[in-house]
Amino acid sequence: MDRLKANSKQRAVIDVQGVVQGVGFRPFVYRLATQFKLSGWVRNTSGKVEIEVEGKKSDLTEFLRQLKTNPPPMAYIEYVGTTYSTPAGYPDFRIRASVSLKNNYQLVSPDIATCKDCRNEIFDPDDRRYHYPFTNCTNCGPRFTIIEDIPYDRPKTTMRAFKMCRRCEQEYNDPLNRRFHAQPNACPDCGPQLELVDAAGKPVKCTDTFWKAAELLKAGKIIAIRGLGGFQLACDATNANSVNLLRKRKHRPSKPFAVMVATTSDVKKHCSVSTDEINLLESPQAPVVLLRWNNKKSGIAREVAPDLKYLGVMLPYTPLHHLLLREVGAPLVMTSGNLSEEPIAKDNDEALHRLKGIADYFLLHNRGIYARYDDSVYMVEESEQVTLRRARGYAPYPIHLPFKSKQILACGAELKNTFCLTRDDHAFISQHIGDLENAETLEHFEQTIELYKRLFRIEPEVIACDLHPEYLPSKYAARIAIENKLPLLPVQHHHAHIVSCMVENGVETPVIGVAFDGVGYGTDGAIWGGEFLVMDWHDFRRIGQFEYVPMPGGAAAIKKPYRMALGYLYGLLDDGFSLEGLPMAKLNANETAIIKQQIQKRINCPLTSSVGRLFDAVAALTGLTYESTYEAQAAITLEMQAPDKFGRGKIITYPWSFETQNGVTVIKLKELFSAIVDEVRNGVAVSEISLKLHRTVAQITVDMCSRISLQTGITQVALSGGVFQNRLLLKLTTDGLRQADFQVFTHRLVPCNDGGLSLGQAVIANFKESKSSLIFP
Ligand SMILES: [Zn+2]
Ligand SMILES: [Zn+2]
Repeated sequence: MDRLKANSKQRAVIDVQGVVQGVGFRPFVYRLATQFKLSGWVRNTSGKVEIEVEGKKSDLTEFLRQLKTNPPPMAYIEYVGTTYSTPAGYPDFRIRASVSLKNNYQLVSPDIATCKDCRNEIFDPDDRRYHYPFTNCTNCGPRFTIIEDIPYDRPKTTMRAFKMCRRCEQEYNDPLNRRFHAQPNACPDCGPQLELVDAAGKPVKCTDTFWKAAELLKAGKIIAIRGLGGFQLACDATNANSVNLLRKRKHRPSKPFAVMVATTSDVKKHCSVSTDEINLLESPQAPVVLLRWNNKKSGIAREVAPDLKYLGVMLPYTPLHHLLLREVGAPLVMTSGNLSEEPIAKDNDEALHRLKGIADYFLLHNRGIYARYDDSVYMVEESEQVTLRRARGYAPYPIHLPFKSKQILACGAELKNTFCLTRDDHAFISQHIGDLENAETLEHFEQTIELYKRLFRIEPEVIACDLHPEYLPSKYAARIAIENKLPLLPVQHHHAHIVSCMVENGVETPVIGVAFDGVGYGTDGAIWGGEFLVMDWHDFRRIGQFEYVPMPGGAAAIKKPYRMALGYLYGLLDDGFSLEGLPMAKLNANETAIIKQQIQKRINCPLTSSVGRLFDAVAALTGLTYESTYEAQAAITLEMQAPDKFGRGKIITYPWSFETQNGVTVIKLKELFSAIVDEVRNGVAVSEISLKLHRTVAQITVDMCSRISLQTGITQVALSGGVFQNRLLLKLTTDGLRQADFQVFTHRLVPCNDGGLSLGQAVIANFKESKSSLIFP
């Protein structure tokens, strides 16, 4: 009887959703169906993959099991729906033409690093793709950067400019080939080509482009390389002169550069790496990973990442990079092809114009880049991947929301901008857009919003933005809200930070939010950044904060941390305080006198509670760093001074006190600064001061959370804000909170810095209207 049932024929009608297009899914289905002798068809629609298969019940069951458990490497299945009916009598199994359905959408695959099979081909002299820099297959290569609309088919990508040759077409049409329906499929006969030109755009005569480019790099030249999502600037990372020249030309005096290293075993020559870090480096996403740098033993120039313990390292992720790295035989600096703070250049003419004066040569190609796409940056903490910059390999893959969302556009922060568009249970956070401080980046921001709206068929019902009215994204939000007659919801910066952390951890119940960052606009008009919030997705109450201190000159105090140090010293300490005996006494006496007056008379001195500024100020007070040429440089330099190994004995901290003002517990810092001033005057080592400051801030956090927990009963703490990129502080704080029996949530999938803000904004905007807050009835 059972046997009879198993042999009876049935038809299964299957829907598959997720990243299932452009990743070799239909050939996989075809092979699987053929293997089980099932007939029917598979096709892409703009919403999903549809499959009908018929055959023996037992074969259908096994087909479905393998479909779910063994998909191609780049596929990500979110949902499989199956219904059964009577067989339709299909004679064979076919791949049907794609169908575009109105208002449907699908997930789009990120660009993926070159797979092993393709790598083998480009290094095999007998292969027809030997040394061909645009080799790819369904398991690897460009996706998001070339797609203009859905469904994902060649005519809707920038590859439509290239007509496949006979051999490529055969591969493309052969369901058993690895290149079946690989939209960017190409070969030396029919695909994109590389060209090496000089700074004037004149072709460089050579027989082998890679050999010539490598020769130039080894001679110390800077080459602009058109990569996957835009141009990169490359130079020999072991040549200090080249690195310095690149810094000078790019107007980037000390912000660290990332390096590309040929192989994992080469990485080990320069850095200490854990298994988790190797796995991340070698993953299909192949991001930049911050690794512990053995800079004394490494041949990589110190100038690549001055004063830092960590080096941003990535492996080659396109055939072009593999071929170039192999030829050069040394690690290359590989940094975004832009002048500081502009968006990355993506087109040939644009690069020749904008990178003029920076690059000596240009390695160009003629495969169009539709979307700009920077390298992603990650670190591994406690064996988990932590996102610092989310772009290549990750975006536009969405974050899953634990609820069905309205269609919302959240415009994000001004620095490290990303935006977020929501639909259903998907939050599409854009790739890293950059600092929205100039017209070029704003244009990039607006174009990318339009691309995401089109790809994912989203028409926003609500516009969210930061509370800061002067942020460019906030101004954009206000403008389009008026133009489209949509509600505009400004969201407080730190509320958004913490909600972003809650959502990616699936936490809905109230938390104590600890938001430490550099600058965020507060509801009282002050600059917040050292905040303890009792909150949920709907609302928040500020229940604790670091004491307000004057920030002499406002933004000037961010770039010049000594101004901030003076803000703490003259703002908090007794009137008779003088700089005598401190390294800062050597600063220009006229300037410090003017700043002192500015502070005492409160002229252009906005108030701030920022923890980022606290670290900056201590860095300056110790004489370590007086100016920051990149965001948080002083604070980062101070973090780097702390010893790597320290005992677990009695924790020594600086003194501080709590004071309650209008229901808010304020952390008073006068005693802390007096103590540090004494230590600096007494010549205590900066490393000791640094560690003690980190421990103090961690202990303040634990004590404050314990007080709040006593009042509210809340035992969940979420940590967010750019300050938690500080690995030492993150570790000391999470350890301390866990020892005090708190459940601690930190970021993994989205950055704790302002790059993660848009997600929080979108979620808050979704719930703002409803009145179901758990803590604020
Ligand atoms: Zn491949
Ligand atoms: Zn071809």
